[in-house]
Amino acid sequence: MPQKHLVAIVSVCCLIAAGCATTRLPTDNIPRYALYGTNYLPLVPVCDVQNINLEYDPFTQVVLLSKKPHRLALRVGDAFALIDGKLHYFNHPAVLRDGTVMIPESFNREIVQRLVSKVSPAAPVKIMQPSRIKRIVIDAGHGGKDPGAISASGLREKTVNLDVAKRLAKLLKDEGFSVFMTRSTDTFVPLSVRTAMANSFKADLFISIHSNANRVRSMHGFEVYYVSPTVNDTERGIASANKEIPSVKAAELAGASVKLKATLWDMVYTHNRGESIQLGRSICRAVGGTLDNQILGLKGARYYVLRGTDMPALLIEVGFLSNTGEERLLGEAMYRQRIAQGINEGILRYVRELAFAEKDN
Ligand SMILES: [Zn+2]
Repeated sequence: MPQKHLVAIVSVCCLIAAGCATTRLPTDNIPRYALYGTNYLPLVPVCDVQNINLEYDPFTQVVLLSKKPHRLALRVGDAFALIDGKLHYFNHPAVLRDGTVMIPESFNREIVQRLVSKVSPAAPVKIMQPSRIKRIVIDAGHGGKDPGAISASGLREKTVNLDVAKRLAKLLKDEGFSVFMTRSTDTFVPLSVRTAMANSFKADLFISIHSNANRVRSMHGFEVYYVSPTVNDTERGIASANKEIPSVKAAELAGASVKLKATLWDMVYTHNRGESIQLGRSICRAVGGTLDNQILGLKGARYYVLRGTDMPALLIEVGFLSNTGEERLLGEAMYRQRIAQGINEGILRYVRELAFAEKDN
């Protein structure tokens, strides 16, 4: 990128001019802005010059920074951050100015520099290292009095969902995962109960299986949904504020305000969404290999069943019951088995990728 070259040239010039006074940081040449009685730096160039990966969710205003083996989460307006799952406080909050996230100088010196250090995080972290995925919840959509979509020939969504879910559960069990099904028979289970089951099972992943229907009868294909950023994570965070936060030790939160807890949950949810997106992509790619059918890809949506979960969660629409060709395919056991195999393969690849990334650390 030409901008980076420019930064490099400027930084060499300044080094010569300044003559190396104190410990120099790669961020020393980024312009400072005096705001609220302290010096602020724009976060994007701070990350750029140090090869720190930056993800920003404009909706929740949560920022995720990562540089192996470290991860940092913070939110605009708050004067604390989670680094490798540990809570750190600083003097001034991160702020937003002209659409750019700005961090205080002291935060850059004391906090961001920890990300660049080669030292491994002191304490083992749960949510920040999700590669130890052992417990998976498979949720067969609908059931009992709720049939879901019904095809022209009378094939019910609840039946297709349950069959695919059972096949997937078996494949995952064979791989050694601990699998929990929210229903294993044709029974009605309310959505809130499904998410509560997943949370109390302390699942590492939540996979909900559904079949699609659309008034446009030509619509067909396989698609995956994650919770989109339009879901208000702050409201969800406040609702969860009294629950234990997986990445933070209880002692650190003794006496913490509801707002602090809500914000931390907010960060957990944003993190989980990132993981859900990675898993969703992996599943779409793998299913593309096992199904000779259209892969519509990964999308964001506001499904209730995904919203209440404390772990990365996906809703899979295996095919359209409203499409004549796909309705016929979904009626075939062989086709449902190939769907399950594809999803299983996508999960395995995702888990392997995470394990590999951990080994790198
Ligand atoms: Zn459904």
